[in-house]
Amino acid sequence: MSPLHFFFFPMVAQGHMIPTLDMAKLVASRGVKATIITTPLNESVFSDSIERNKHLGIEIDIRLITFQAVENDLPIGCERLDLVPSPVLFNNFFKATAMMQEPFENLVKECRPDCIVSDMLYPWSTDSAAKFNIPRIVFHGTGFFALCVAESIKRNKPFKNVSTDSETFVVPNLPHQIRLTRTQLSPFDLEEKEAIIFKIFHEVREADSKSYGVIFNSFYELETDYFEYYTKFQDNKSWAIGPLSLCNRYIEDKAERGMKSCIDTHECLKWLDSKKSGSIVYICFGSGVTFTGSQIEELAMGIEDSGQEFIWVIREQENENSCLPEGFEERTKEKGLIIRGWAPQVLILDHEGVGAFVTHCGWNSTLEGISAGVPLVAWPVFAEQFLNEKLVTDVLRIGVGVGSVKWEAAASEGVKREEISKAIKRVMVGEEAEGFKNRAKEYKEKAREAIEEGGSSYNGLTNLLQDVSMFGTKID
Ligand code: UDP
Repeated sequence: MSPLHFFFFPMVAQGHMIPTLDMAKLVASRGVKATIITTPLNESVFSDSIERNKHLGIEIDIRLITFQAVENDLPIGCERLDLVPSPVLFNNFFKATAMMQEPFENLVKECRPDCIVSDMLYPWSTDSAAKFNIPRIVFHGTGFFALCVAESIKRNKPFKNVSTDSETFVVPNLPHQIRLTRTQLSPFDLEEKEAIIFKIFHEVREADSKSYGVIFNSFYELETDYFEYYTKFQDNKSWAIGPLSLCNRYIEDKAERGMKSCIDTHECLKWLDSKKSGSIVYICFGSGVTFTGSQIEELAMGIEDSGQEFIWVIREQENENSCLPEGFEERTKEKGLIIRGWAPQVLILDHEGVGAFVTHCGWNSTLEGISAGVPLVAWPVFAEQFLNEKLVTDVLRIGVGVGSVKWEAAASEGVKREEISKAIKRVMVGEEAEGFKNRAKEYKEKAREAIEEGGSSYNGLTNLLQDVSMFGTKID
């Protein structure tokens, strides 16, 4: 019998492609044929890692389809979400993603995979899979908690019970009391508009319910209440198989995720090795967040005021308008390492020198921090990051919020130096910090147990493979 063949089709955004590559490696390590579908510009996100993993007997194919950037009035080569030069072009970008349907279906027709694991932001791929009687499995790239909260907000619209944007409301019927404000919700939750980006977000849930199931980059022990809650309100299947980043056991695979890092790995490790255990605050806001010059200045002053040692990742776009306070780099050169561009995040987080992580709460970063057993300072900016913050602070109690309360698709600002410094100190020094650290370490242990043979995520993957192989016979 020929091995199962999985198609993986991630959204062209780092936060979606990185975990998808890990997912492909995992299934391939269980003898499944894995093919990743992407666009020419994004081939490099996968190719080096795929090459490296060949030596371990893990074979992954890549197939490319055209991305119609120019046809949709996007700059040449604008094939990834973080490359969209302005939020006013997001609509064009999503139009271009939807135009991948036809070439994608041609590939499905040619290869006849046993299963399509496609991004939630490609809701049309449910129809593509149905045309060929192939199960479509959705990958959201987020956890159970965020989906449960989002579902309750959608069903109950609790934000209608408050009269101002800053008043808090309780999200009903959840295992914990979760309070949010309207400013923390996405425009897609609050209003309906004709634009294609709104249409796609509305189609996502419908497409989810018509799909065979949903894969979660999470693990049962992390979100037990919400795993149970989710499986109660959903009719289709779900499998928790994470944390996916833990499949990377070698230095290169931890260091080079998504892009080549802008610092030499050995130089970075040497710097970390010279520091005391748990003494470094790692500060990074993922691939899509951009801060204004004045917010960067506040952040620099907040870091300095906290008195802690640090690694701070400043993105290229921020670097252009970076307003580091005068003399900041000189004053902090013993204490801090600034990485301009892309950092080897998982490698850094896994180093015992790191004691806390200031994060925008993208789900991958959140889970990578949890897998490394470090407390988090939550600084959400957009998407479901405000929900992930609640999981960290109110449910798991492994970190504190910095006080950011406004969903911003573009450049973000508004958090003051005092708040930044206070939040960093709360997770680094004192009795309260000890509590965060102890709980964070417990989740780290549980994460590692989950992926080992016989662990919950290992079994989740076994169940996924069994379910797909039993889906039925292919029809020509
Ligand atoms: N990442 C990285 N180096 C960086 C910034 C980000 O390796 O300098 C990785 C990070 O480890 C994570 C992903 O990029 O796997 C970002 O995903 P996340 O969901 O945290 O945020 P997004 O970029 O989608 O907002």
